[in-house]
Amino acid sequence: MTNTILARCEAQGLRMTGQRRTIALVLEASDDHPDVEELYKRASAQDDGISLATVYRTVKLFEETGILEKHEFGDGRARYETADGDHHDHLIDVHSGDVIEFVDEEIEALQEKIAQKLGYKLMGHRLELYGVPLKKTDD
Ligand SMILES: [Zn+2]
Repeated sequence: MTNTILARCEAQGLRMTGQRRTIALVLEASDDHPDVEELYKRASAQDDGISLATVYRTVKLFEETGILEKHEFGDGRARYETADGDHHDHLIDVHSGDVIEFVDEEIEALQEKIAQKLGYKLMGHRLELYGVPLKKTDD
């Protein structure tokens, strides 16, 4: 895949220092939705010279250039994932904080329809479902 965070940073003309490179690689390897503290933990395991402030600055820079997408899943923590054009929505388990990704074609089509009905061409959307696991009745 050529659409890596690193390639996209370079395409944006960002100067990629060693630490930014490490943070980019950590983000690339994260398929969950880590917050800055979690990213700091992962990045400093690779390079103990990386500070929390550097992670904050780098994540902000990546967000501003559209490389990362920021989410706040109802708990006030900013969490990040790569904005690679691969659309999906999120279901958040309010007990465990787990985030489940999904795509539902019916919902996608319905949203298009609603926008059209209101006289708009849909450019994007965000959908977050909040739930608790269903109780299993068979035990
Ligand atoms: Zn996601």
